[in-house]
Amino acid sequence: MEKMKGCVFCEAKLNKGEAIFETENFFVNIGVGLVAPGHMMLIPKRHYDCCADIPRDLRPEFDGAAKLIFGKIKKVFGAPFLVEYGVFGQSVSHAHLHFIPKERRGTAHYPAYEIRDVFEEIKIPNDIAPHPASWETAAAMKKRHGGYVFLKDKDRAVLFERFEQELSYRRFFNHQLTLKDIPARWQDITEEQKKIDAIKKEITKSRFKF
Ligand SMILES: [Zn+2]
Repeated sequence: MEKMKGCVFCEAKLNKGEAIFETENFFVNIGVGLVAPGHMMLIPKRHYDCCADIPRDLRPEFDGAAKLIFGKIKKVFGAPFLVEYGVFGQSVSHAHLHFIPKERRGTAHYPAYEIRDVFEEIKIPNDIAPHPASWETAAAMKKRHGGYVFLKDKDRAVLFERFEQELSYRRFFNHQLTLKDIPARWQDITEEQKKIDAIKKEITKSRFKF
């Protein structure tokens, strides 16, 4: 599908105006309710429900862009972890891969945090078995179970074939780390959080330049 009506990532404003980086078929956008400065998303310009639906011939471009963005975030803000809700728990039904820095320096507006190992700290329940990630496995999982969750930290990239609350990065930051500047759902962002969000956004934009 080229564009989907009512989809926020298909809208021209986000697709073109707010992109901080783009390639022929993908763009990078800063969302709402940033976890930290440097938190951003890699998004296809055309509408796909999840990254597993991205056509095979576009995957090298996607992987290349992801690698470039990872390196840039690592250099400017600190190494990120990656997460994609491949339909499960996804709040916008248009593929988007999150890059979230594992550390942030605190300011007057928000406290600092540092995560060493996402897999340990996010406390994935033992009964959820992770599968080594590949495009093929993600596509097969979507076909079989209707979705997947993708998580990558350091050299470990895995897929989960079902969604649990514990895998929600918002829940992790908001409930587990009790960082109150991060909304539990981006739709529920408060006026106070919006002000802090604007600061994080500004830092991201000003420092993330190609
Ligand atoms: Zn869309």
